[in-house]
Amino acid sequence: MTTAQETRETERLKALAERAGRALEDASALEILQWAADTFGKRFCVTSSMEDAVVAHLASRAMPGVDVVFLDTGYHFEETIGTRDAVEAVMDVNVITLTPRQTVAEQDAEHGPRLHERDPDLCCFLRKVKPLEQGLTHYDAWATGLRRDESPTRANTPVVAWDDKRRKVKISPIARWTQDDVDAYVAEHGVLTNPLLTDGYASVGCAPCTRRVLAGEDARAGRWAGRAKTECGLHG
Ligand code: SF4
Repeated sequence: MTTAQETRETERLKALAERAGRALEDASALEILQWAADTFGKRFCVTSSMEDAVVAHLASRAMPGVDVVFLDTGYHFEETIGTRDAVEAVMDVNVITLTPRQTVAEQDAEHGPRLHERDPDLCCFLRKVKPLEQGLTHYDAWATGLRRDESPTRANTPVVAWDDKRRKVKISPIARWTQDDVDAYVAEHGVLTNPLLTDGYASVGCAPCTRRVLAGEDARAGRWAGRAKTECGLHG
C-alpha cells in the first residue's frame, strides 16, 4: 500500500469507528461483536488479560475461532497462565500469546532489577505497550473488556472508538456492563474465570503490581496500589 492509500484507509476506518460509536451505543455486547466480526472478519481480534473469558466467549459466539490475544509479560500469576491455558483448551478461539522483546532476566540486566518498582511506566511500556503495538499490526480492530464501572478513569469508555495511538478501531463491547452483568453472564454460560477473583482480587494484572482489594475500594484499587499510576498505557 502506498502512503496515500494508507492515509485513505486510516481515514475510512476512523470515520467507520466514529459512526459505529454513535450507532452502537445502545446495542448489546453480542450485537457489537457481531458488527465487528461482519465488518472486519479476520482483521479483528479480542485482547484478554485472562481475568475472565467473558469477551472472548461473546466474541466466539459472533465469530467462532476468533483470535484472542494475550500479553505474557513474564510477571503473571500462575493462575493467570492457567486460565489462558484453559481458555485455549476448551473454547472455540485461537489464543495468541505475545511476549516482550526481552525476558525479565534480560530486562533486569539492562535496566536493573525490579524496574516495576522504580519506573513502572517504562516497565509497562516494554512489557505491555510495545508488544501489543507489534501484535496488533495485522488487525484493523481490537476488542477489550473495559467497563465504565471499573474506575473513574474508565467512566467514559465508548463502545466503539478510534484508537489514534495504534490507528485501529477499538471496541469495548461490555463498556456499559456492571459487575453484576459480568457475574450473571459467567454463571449463565459457565465462562472460565481467573481463580484469583474468588481470592480477594477484583482486577488481575502482573503479580508484583497487584494486591487484593479492601472493602469499599473500586475494582482497580489493587493495581499499582500506593502509586500514582492507574493504567498500564494500553488504554490511555
Ligand atoms: Fe511491569 Fe508491573 Fe507493568 Fe507488569 S504491571 S509490566 S510488572 S510495571
